[in-house]
Amino acid sequence: MSSLDSPRLTLWRDITPLPSPLIHPPPFSPHILVIGGGVTGLVSSWVLLDKGYRVTVLAKDFVSDEPGKRLTSQIAGALWEFPPAVCGSHTDRISLERSKVWCMTAYHIWDGIADIKQLRDDSGVRMMPSTFFFPSAIEEDPDQFDKMEEMIASGVRGFRRSTQIMEEQKVDPEYGAVDAYQLLAPIIDTDKGMHWLTSLVRSKGAKFVTREIDCDLLDIEEALRVEFKADAIVNATGLQGTTLAGDNSCYPIRGGLIRVINDGANFPKVEAALTITADAVHDSSEIIFLVPRNDNILLIGGFAEPHEQSLDLTLDSPIVKRMRSRCEAFLPSLKKARLDESYPFAQGLRPFRQRNVRVERELRSKKSRIVHSYGQGGAGWSLSFGCAQDVLALVEEALSGVQARPMAEMWHVSQLDPCTRALGQAVSNTALVAIENRAHPKLRPRI
Ligand SMILES: Cc1cc2nc3c(=O)[nH]c(=O)nc-3n(C[C@H](O)[C@H](O)[C@H](O)COP(=O)(O)OP(=O)(O)OC[C@H]3O[C@@H](n4cnc5c(N)ncnc54)[C@H](O)[C@@H]3O)c2cc1C
Repeated sequence: MSSLDSPRLTLWRDITPLPSPLIHPPPFSPHILVIGGGVTGLVSSWVLLDKGYRVTVLAKDFVSDEPGKRLTSQIAGALWEFPPAVCGSHTDRISLERSKVWCMTAYHIWDGIADIKQLRDDSGVRMMPSTFFFPSAIEEDPDQFDKMEEMIASGVRGFRRSTQIMEEQKVDPEYGAVDAYQLLAPIIDTDKGMHWLTSLVRSKGAKFVTREIDCDLLDIEEALRVEFKADAIVNATGLQGTTLAGDNSCYPIRGGLIRVINDGANFPKVEAALTITADAVHDSSEIIFLVPRNDNILLIGGFAEPHEQSLDLTLDSPIVKRMRSRCEAFLPSLKKARLDESYPFAQGLRPFRQRNVRVERELRSKKSRIVHSYGQGGAGWSLSFGCAQDVLALVEEALSGVQARPMAEMWHVSQLDPCTRALGQAVSNTALVAIENRAHPKLRPRI
């Protein structure tokens, strides 16, 4: 069985959060150069290290708490979402279907991490209620209804659909949300999470090198492999696919999050993520994205500005003010919110790509042993371990001399993981009963 057919990557069986590698690298174990120290690079490194590979992580920047120096992975709201995520829709069928597999792999691993108190405290990963609101009955939007069905069948925990949720969460009925569902989802305190991932990968034996690469990796692959005695290279540089992979279809989607104190003193503590997705309202300028980052901070978002490169927004920028007013109209208690004075506003560039996420070998040269994992957009944390499992499989293919194939050839829908294949085709009876019982009396699922 090739690694590409392997069962879903599983915590404690395939990887562990313990400081030493699950499989100690045997003598002459292949050495992998991972370029990128964000969530994509670090989680890929973790998986490779636990499989007995030696790893060097090379990046221009690593995790930092200095203002203006945080990585995109730290800026993220880091709410786990079933694709498409809050801020955008998918343009590529293969990437969308693969993302459903990736996100479920990550879901179970984050869930396993959050399940152990010490790990939860160290990593900043928690399972929290995550609520999605809709401007009309979900059945009226076939895409949203299909997504809900798939999500229920996927194995997420704590799914519940109810029109009571609007009242329970004290959202203003005037805002126009008339339907909602909730599930338990991972939410990561990213500053904590990135420090934890960095030290975990280091403790498992990875070496760290700070360096910027400013050209196409293919042009310097040989030189890099000689310099680092590397057997393969993983490119996890987020938005830099344009330069490092010669991929002109990469572009940023700028976003920002206001940070307020969520200690219950000024408004009732928000203890669930509350969101209205761009897909649900068919308008990316109407996103609501409220996410409790940790016990003390609530993130208020969001917006999505394609092709905006600069990080020069302030709390007074019109788009930020509009976002705040929109969220206050949705959840009026936020009008009394107090800013986190030490870090009131976070902004960053989501690494998008025209055909969505690329986890694929370098195709321009038959000899190349480069594996790309970039373009995770607004979902790098949601897809993390899933993408890393494919990275591992592709590295193993490259090392064993298998010819590289395009993603579209590797992942025909018929070849997708059996679980994903089942999604959308055969929603379990239990799931349908759950919808029926919880749906608005006038609403009934399509069977
Ligand atoms: C406002 C906002 C909200 C978000 N919300 C969520 C969310 O709720 N859920 C979610 O899952 N995701 C969310 N995201 C998306 C998430 O942040 C990204 O998908 C994720 O961080 C991508 O991780 P990465 O490791 O690929 O890239 P990055 O974090 O950008 O890391 C890239 C790494 O590559 C290195 N690098 C780059 N160029 C070079 C070079 N030339 N040479 C050497 N090294 C280089 C960098 O130094 C860095 O170490 C959000 C993003 C934003 C901006």
